Amino acid sequence: MIKKILVANRGEIAVRIIRSCREMGIESVAVFSDADRTSMHVRYADEAYRIGPAPSTESYLKMDRIIEVAQKSGAQAIHPGYGFLSENAEFADKVRNAGLIFIGPSSEAITAMGDKMRARELMKKAGVPIVPGSEELPKEPEAIKKTAREIGYPVMIKASAGGGGKGMRLVNTEKELLDSVKRAQSEALNAFGNGAIYLEKYLLEPHHIEFQILADNHVIHLFERECSVQRRHQKVVEETPSPFITPELRKAMAIQAIAAAKSVNYSGAGTIEFLVDKDRNFYFLEMNTRLQVEHPITERVTGIDLVKAQIHIANNLPLEIKQEDVLQRGHAIECRIYAEDPQNNFIPSPGLIRHITEPLGLGVRTDGYVYEGYEIPLYYDPLVSKLIIWAPTRAEAIDRMKRALYEYKITGIKTNITFVQRIMEAEPFVKGHYNTHFIESNIDFLMKNTEDCFDCEDIAMIIAFLDYENKQRKRLDFAKDKGQRTSNWKNIGRIFHHNPF
Ligand code: ADP
Repeated sequence: MIKKILVANRGEIAVRIIRSCREMGIESVAVFSDADRTSMHVRYADEAYRIGPAPSTESYLKMDRIIEVAQKSGAQAIHPGYGFLSENAEFADKVRNAGLIFIGPSSEAITAMGDKMRARELMKKAGVPIVPGSEELPKEPEAIKKTAREIGYPVMIKASAGGGGKGMRLVNTEKELLDSVKRAQSEALNAFGNGAIYLEKYLLEPHHIEFQILADNHVIHLFERECSVQRRHQKVVEETPSPFITPELRKAMAIQAIAAAKSVNYSGAGTIEFLVDKDRNFYFLEMNTRLQVEHPITERVTGIDLVKAQIHIANNLPLEIKQEDVLQRGHAIECRIYAEDPQNNFIPSPGLIRHITEPLGLGVRTDGYVYEGYEIPLYYDPLVSKLIIWAPTRAEAIDRMKRALYEYKITGIKTNITFVQRIMEAEPFVKGHYNTHFIESNIDFLMKNTEDCFDCEDIAMIIAFLDYENKQRKRLDFAKDKGQRTSNWKNIGRIFHHNPF
C-alpha cells in the first residue's frame, strides 16, 4: 500500500492532490523550483525539496531529478498532476524502472493516445466515430489538394503531436491550403519536435463534450463535462450535465468512451474528448491520459474523489464503484480564474497578491493556491484558482456562481473575474444555447465593464477609513477632555482586513 507520494507538480493541482493524500493518511512530498519556494504546495506538503531554477525545463520537467528526490525521500509513488510530465511516456517508464509507482496509465496507453493520428487509427479500429479527416498528409501538392477537397472545406490542419490548443490551423479555401500546410509543418516541428500533420473536417458550431472514465480491469464512466466555453481553443468555463445532450446521446457517447478506453487497456482516470455537431452527431477528438483541470465538477455531481480513485487503482485494488451506482446529482459549474488582463488581450498578469477574499458558503469550492502576500511567478501557467459551484439545478448553479464571483476579490494583480461574471450573465449561456464559438460571437457583451474595480474598492476602503478616523478623532477629543490617552492607529488595520467586500 502506498504510504508516501511525491507530487511532481505545483500550483493548485499539487495542493489538490496533497489534500486527498492527507485525507487518506498518506504522507506527501512536494518538489519546487526557485520561483516556488514560498508556494502553497510547499507549505502544505509534509516534506518539500528544491529541484532547480525557475524555468520548468530546469525543474518540473527534470525527470531524473524528480525520481531521485522520490527515492531519497522514501516515496513509493509519483503523481504527475496535469501538464508538465503527466503525459510523458518516457517519464512513466523511468518512474516504473526506478521501482516506483506512476499514478497514471501504462506508457503504451500514453504513447498511443499522445499521438493524434495514431489515436484516430486506434479509434477507427475500435469502431469509435472520429472527426472525418485524413491520415498523414501526402507530400505531393496535388494529392494534398485532392485530400482536402474530399474532406470538404473548411478544413483544419492539425499537428499529430499538438496539444493545449496549439498546432491547429483553419483553412477556408483551396487557395490558402498549400501555404498553410507548409507553415503548419514547420510550426509543428519547432513546437513539438514532430512535423507530422493531418487534416480534419472543420465542424461548424460544435460542442466540446468529454467523458470522464475510471478503469482498472473494467471501465466505468462518470458522465460528461460540457467544455464549449473556450477562448482560443482553451477551456474557460465547464459544466455538468451538459445542457445540450439528450439522455439517449449521453448513453451512446458513454458506450463509445468506454470502448475507446478499453482499446488501449486503459488503467486509472482518463478523459475521452468528443466534438458534437449541431445535429448531435459526435466524433472522438482525443483522449487525455491524466487528471483534467476541470475534474472537480465531475467530483461534485458524482461524489467521487478522482484523486483517491487514482491512488486506489495505483494500489492495484479493484474499483469498488459500480456503474449503476454512479449518478449525476444536481449541477456543477467551474470557472477558471486566471491572473490575466481581459482589457489587454488577456495578457498574463502575474505579481504580488495584495489582498484576497475567496468566496465561501453553500455549494462553493475553490481549488487554488495563492494567499495574501504571495507573488505569482511569471514562469508558469497563470491559473490562480478554479471556482466550482454546485446547486440542485442549473439555474441555481448560475445564480450561486454569480454570488460567489461577487464575493471573490483579488487585488494587486489583474484577473478575469469580471469577464467570467459576464459569461454568467450572457443570454446564450444562461439559456444553455452555446457552442465553441460562444466567446468570439459574444465578445462585445463579454468585454463590457470588465475593467477591474480595484480602484473603486480602494476608494470604498478609504472612505470607510476616513469615516472611522473621524469617529476616532471625536473619541480622542472626548478622551483628551477627560485627560485619558488613546491610540488612533491601533485599529486601522482592521478596516482593511475586516472589510471583505
Ligand atoms: P488540443 O489537443 O490542442 O487541446 P483539440 O484537438 O483537443 O486540441 O481541440 C481543441 C479545441 O479546438 C476543440 O475543443 C474545438 O473547440 C476546436 N477544434 C478542434 N478540432 C476541431 C474541428 N475539427 N472542428 C471544429 N473545431 C475543432
